[in-house]
Amino acid sequence: MNYRIRENSFWARLAAKKMKSDQMAMVFGRTIHLYNTDHREFLSNPRWLRHELAHIRQYSELGFIGFLWRYSIESIKKGYYQNRFEVEARAAEYDHQLEETYTFQPNRKQLMAATPPNRRQTDVPVHRG
Ligand SMILES: [Zn+2]
Repeated sequence: MNYRIRENSFWARLAAKKMKSDQMAMVFGRTIHLYNTDHREFLSNPRWLRHELAHIRQYSELGFIGFLWRYSIESIKKGYYQNRFEVEARAAEYDHQLEETYTFQPNRKQLMAATPPNRRQTDVPVHRG
């Protein structure tokens, strides 16, 4: 299953403010929204990545509206930390198989950032071995 990353997200910025957090990642469907961090920093933190991938899995299990609805009810009843979706996501931070199930689908800008400036995309060898 593919997932995308959106940097400088308006929604992640709002969430960061509400949570009084310096950096923020949050998920809508199969897109991870980031604030005050970029995809490289985020992807280099396995626990953080797995946590958000667990939320992507929760969306796929319950559907977009289904997840948001249940998540909101949990948050109202139990707060953020005891919310069962957060409990599950925290446990998933140690699930090494999780990141193998999901594939990052970079956007054009993220793809360009991965290509060294002195080397054009067409120079990258297509065949191996
Ligand atoms: Zn979470």
